[in-house]
Amino acid sequence: MIKHPVHGRFGPYGGQYVPETLMGALEELEGVWHEAKADAQFQLELAGHRHAFIGRPTPLYAASRLSAHFGGAHIHLKREDLCHTGAHKLNNAVGQALLAMRMGKKRLIAETGAGQHGVAVATVAARFGLDCAVYMGTEDMRRQSMNVRRMKLLGAEVKEVASGTKTLKDATSEAIRDWVTNVHTTHYIIGSVVGPHPYPEMVRDLQRVIGDEAREQYLSVDGKLPDVVVACVGGGSNAIGIFTAFLDDKDVSLVGVEAAGSGIRTGKHAASLVGGRPGVLHGAFSYLLQDGEGQVLPTHSISAGLDYPGVGPEHSFLRDVERVDYVAVGDKDALAAFKLCTKLEGIMPALEPAHALHQAGVIARELGPGGRILVCLSGRGDKDMDSVESPTKSEAAP
Ligand SMILES: *Cc1c(COP(=O)(O)O)cnc(C)c1O
Repeated sequence: MIKHPVHGRFGPYGGQYVPETLMGALEELEGVWHEAKADAQFQLELAGHRHAFIGRPTPLYAASRLSAHFGGAHIHLKREDLCHTGAHKLNNAVGQALLAMRMGKKRLIAETGAGQHGVAVATVAARFGLDCAVYMGTEDMRRQSMNVRRMKLLGAEVKEVASGTKTLKDATSEAIRDWVTNVHTTHYIIGSVVGPHPYPEMVRDLQRVIGDEAREQYLSVDGKLPDVVVACVGGGSNAIGIFTAFLDDKDVSLVGVEAAGSGIRTGKHAASLVGGRPGVLHGAFSYLLQDGEGQVLPTHSISAGLDYPGVGPEHSFLRDVERVDYVAVGDKDALAAFKLCTKLEGIMPALEPAHALHQAGVIARELGPGGRILVCLSGRGDKDMDSVESPTKSEAAP
């Protein structure tokens, strides 16, 4: 395993760039997490919820018709789309809800852009009887009205954020403000491997179940490991979740796929690692999309889950040391992969992992019939049907 000598850092990346008033809460969270990780009773409880509530282990699926279509390389899908609520996000939300209760906190807050993370948090709040407030920009509430309804039915209060761009960035600022005010009663569930330490490490540990399961399943089906593991990267939690189990397997290539939107050169994209440079956003030092003055740039992707200007600090490190290869795939290719997977496999992928599926096709053609590729299918695509049927209408508002 790669060792990181500086506490809370991945090489130079990560850290805790937060107001002084939150340092105590971050310290408490880190302490409780380390204690819980070593507590057999906690692990047993977490395993129970993973099994009966989330539906784990999720299957490893041989995508034989996609394989044939792309020239014969073996393509397997790790089926996170079969998790309860339709994506890997619940793996994190369940774990953090248990930690909140361990800290005696009875209120959960979250920020959400597309609403998927908000739904995951509202779901665990309902399951464990906790209060819940989800911050969401006015513009996102309009675009994602179905998820707003889901959250409300689950009992969450959806707090409309009408300031700034009325989207995720401003919703995050409001959530942080709430946390500063109510830190003694409230736990803030961040939805990816981003934010200040210990979130990137803790969320990785909660998502690594994806790769731990997949590695074992792959070995038991195939007797050896895949040549390549491919996953999409928004904040980077499903990718880190599947990569972590393979980091020490030097013969396994790891490929992270960002959103190239309309194309890197158009400036309308969300590829922080491919097209950005390091800076501080939401409490951590990592690659991000910024202008010459360090102002965070607006992003674009057809998939809301990848439409974020930053990325988790561990990915920045893995990019610099070249353990993971990061590439970017655009809207058009992702749409085509969405349609292909739906028609050939009877599995409608979310638009986020459709980016990874396109790249898997490119790699399959390079490797030929002997190739072996594992793809993280991070979520299901019902939520994306409007975007797929009329791609321009659902485009991000300015
Ligand atoms: C939110 C989301 C993502 C992006 O988040 P990561 O933290 O990068 O995993 C990817 N896929 C799906 C289905 C999502 O809902």
